[in-house]
Amino acid sequence: LWDYVKQHFRQELSKGSYETWIQALDPIEFSGQVLHIRVPSELHKKHIENYYLLTIKQVIYEFLNQEVDVLLHLDQPNNRIQMGNQGQADTEIITNPSKDLLNPKYTFDNFIVGEGNKMAHAAALAVAEGPGRDYNPLFFFGGVGLGKTHLMQAIGHEVLRTNPNARVKYVTSETFTNDFINAIRTNTTDQFHKDYRTVDMLLVDDIQFIGGNKQSTQEEFFHTFNALYNNNKHIVLTSDRDASQIPELEDRLVSRFKQGLSTDITPPDLETRIAILRNKANVNGLQIPDDTLSYIAGQIDSNIRELEGALTSVQAYAVMNQEDLTPNTAAKALRSYRSNAAKSAPSIADIQNTVAQYFNLEVADLKGKKRVRSIVVPRQIAMYLSREVTESSLPKIGQEFGGKDHTTVLHAHEKIADLIQENGEVSRDVESIKKLLQK
Ligand code: ADP
Ligand code: MG
Repeated sequence: LWDYVKQHFRQELSKGSYETWIQALDPIEFSGQVLHIRVPSELHKKHIENYYLLTIKQVIYEFLNQEVDVLLHLDQPNNRIQMGNQGQADTEIITNPSKDLLNPKYTFDNFIVGEGNKMAHAAALAVAEGPGRDYNPLFFFGGVGLGKTHLMQAIGHEVLRTNPNARVKYVTSETFTNDFINAIRTNTTDQFHKDYRTVDMLLVDDIQFIGGNKQSTQEEFFHTFNALYNNNKHIVLTSDRDASQIPELEDRLVSRFKQGLSTDITPPDLETRIAILRNKANVNGLQIPDDTLSYIAGQIDSNIRELEGALTSVQAYAVMNQEDLTPNTAAKALRSYRSNAAKSAPSIADIQNTVAQYFNLEVADLKGKKRVRSIVVPRQIAMYLSREVTESSLPKIGQEFGGKDHTTVLHAHEKIADLIQENGEVSRDVESIKKLLQK
């Protein structure tokens, strides 16, 4: 299987890229559903995730006709031991499972404090040092990629460091909702209560999604909150906006969320962005000159996740083109990074709208089941384009087309690919629609 995947990339990529990225991958285990691959560095992991992971999954899908999950593991000595001796994992019993829910990189050590987050940071430290006392609940809000999840998990790490037996539960509000719905369906609400109400600290990320949920879910969260709160257990919440701004959130939850400390996180200033980049470079073992770091920080000012992405692509660009990491190289790398982002592929819905307009049909026709040729061909074209220009899997495309089987999508794709080969009307239609989609 892996040879087949490598073969694909050998044909698709330049020799340099192939050797740098694909050759370095080491498949370590395949369970039939999950393929575990060892990667040599953090940079590889990011780069593979950004550029190749989907293709790897697709190629495997072609080979096996089955969807497979691909997990990348950083090559660390302790990873290796765990992988090698499954079954004798005695040493693992001493690690607290709460830890598995946390990203090991989201610690206080790795968190750079600046003007925009210093209040939030101070509050987080206070809670980590004395959970159950002040600031309960602690509520962080702010835009995407500004460090809310990082800070929340840093609290969890610190609590577990000082008290290795503590039970810290990190979930997103969606996980909470799903767990609750499943508990009802399987008649296991007792277990659900035990899971959520006996912890020492509950971290709920992106709580805004609890708004608009069924009343029963909001009610359950209310009771979970109260049970913990009344036992002096700490609750930490994050949200993309202030609690009172969350749509369709029950008033009693709004007032609970506001009864501790709410603190917002705002975008980092230039100095902080430079410090964040420098820290990232150090953590990843990269040597990047200061003027280059300043240049990148000057270019990207909205969100820290993007800042990290920019750093990774600059580094990758320099490796691939064998250039030094000067500000000039960074400028070139960011130009191509930006234009890639701007060209961001249209969604399946965009494709359906465009195709429907082009053929003067309704989107519902494309999603429907009518078998007349005037609809079947446009539908197949829309599926073809969905597979070509979006990164969606076949089952996902099928789902977006009114719940069709993935084999239907595959068939449509083959059919249109053949018709394009014949270079007749269909091929001209597809070209015109592609042009429309680029606008
Ligand atoms: P949010 O949850 O607010 O969307 P995240 O916590 O996921 O944002 O942060 C996005 C990325 O930026 C993460 O990789 C995180 O480690 C990093 N990050 C955010 N804030 C900081 C900071 N102050 N110092 C270092 N890294 C940060
Ligand atoms: Mg987050």
